[in-house]
Amino acid sequence: MRTNTPAGRRAPDHPAVDVAALLDEGWRPVPLRQFVLKIRSRCNLACDYCIIYEHADQTWRRQPHAMAPGTLRQTARRIAEHAARHGLQRVRIVLHGGEPLLAGPEGVAHLARTVRDIVGEAGAEADFTVQTNGTLLSGRMLDVLAEHRIRVGVSLDGDRDAHDAHRRTAAGRGSYDRVMAGLRRLSGEHPDLYAGLLCTIDAASDPVAVYESLLPTRPPVIDFLLPHAHWGAPPQGPPGAYGRWLAAVFDRWAQAPRKETSVRMLDELLHTLLGGRSRLDWVGITRTVSVFVEADGAIHQNDTLRTGHDGASASGLDVFRNSFDDVLLHPGFAARQAGERALAGACLRCPELSVCGGGEFGHRYRPGAGYRWPTVYCTDLLLLIRHMRGRLPRPVEQTR
Ligand code: SF4
Repeated sequence: MRTNTPAGRRAPDHPAVDVAALLDEGWRPVPLRQFVLKIRSRCNLACDYCIIYEHADQTWRRQPHAMAPGTLRQTARRIAEHAARHGLQRVRIVLHGGEPLLAGPEGVAHLARTVRDIVGEAGAEADFTVQTNGTLLSGRMLDVLAEHRIRVGVSLDGDRDAHDAHRRTAAGRGSYDRVMAGLRRLSGEHPDLYAGLLCTIDAASDPVAVYESLLPTRPPVIDFLLPHAHWGAPPQGPPGAYGRWLAAVFDRWAQAPRKETSVRMLDELLHTLLGGRSRLDWVGITRTVSVFVEADGAIHQNDTLRTGHDGASASGLDVFRNSFDDVLLHPGFAARQAGERALAGACLRCPELSVCGGGEFGHRYRPGAGYRWPTVYCTDLLLLIRHMRGRLPRPVEQTR
């Protein structure tokens, strides 16, 4: 297996595998199914941990504010081409930013129509989600989202104090009240559109209080996110703080008399602990089927890489010159589909590898030494996985 960086050669500053060697070994990529479109590159909030604006990568500065109509059509044509070539009947389109709803109701409607029409000509259905900061969910916007069957995921970090500690405007005003007003409209008038909440963990907060503060709008799913970090910029707090935080949420969530909501990370870890396959990129050994398209049509790997260095998520490919089949053979994308072949030696020897999978790629980065390392959250994930394993009703053997 050609996985280690040869002595004396600098490790790549992007995730990478030797694609020719993988193909020789019989590896074949699987088609992309999720297309994250950065339809706006700017935001009306200035959250202090934002992966786009507040980390090492600053490529947003070189992006147009909005995806131009021609770029959108070309992106849709590439998606249609990929769907036709691989016989995909459904593709997932995630409208992202910046803040995607800055496009306004008419802009969102035009965009959904354009992509659906072009992808539909290839015989595929486009399922839409928008990931928003929740401040622009007016009645008119929600009507348009409903008309175009666009489901809505919202970022909310807990109660007012927890949320406004990080998610503020450039002038320093909290966004909690506007987000909650939008969430009440969404969950009250369009519950079928409500895709869930995204909550970035602050390990100094009370985990049970944060979890309970997210429940009143009845989110179908909560995604808890580990703050973006890597070995050169480790997370705040002592090792294990995030694992203990999540373990406390797990106990509260699992002991509820009835299921209150899904917690995606915990659901996937449980599923994987019981021998199933994870559907999350960074739980278990999975094959990523997601790709990002920037406002100018550049194809990027994943926002989580942006914490490493400027240009870390870029691929050098774009929708004007490249097909999404080109993407599948890019060394960075291939690394995300290469499974154990892209992992660190420490992970390959780890008894919890089949459950953990080595963690999110961006969190594996070590400046000057590349991505072939365990996640910087290794201690946290081990702690959480062992905590959950210890609470399963019958002993489940480690699979390695
Ligand atoms: S727990 Fe740590 S060593 Fe084990 S697979 Fe995950 S990141 Fe690798």
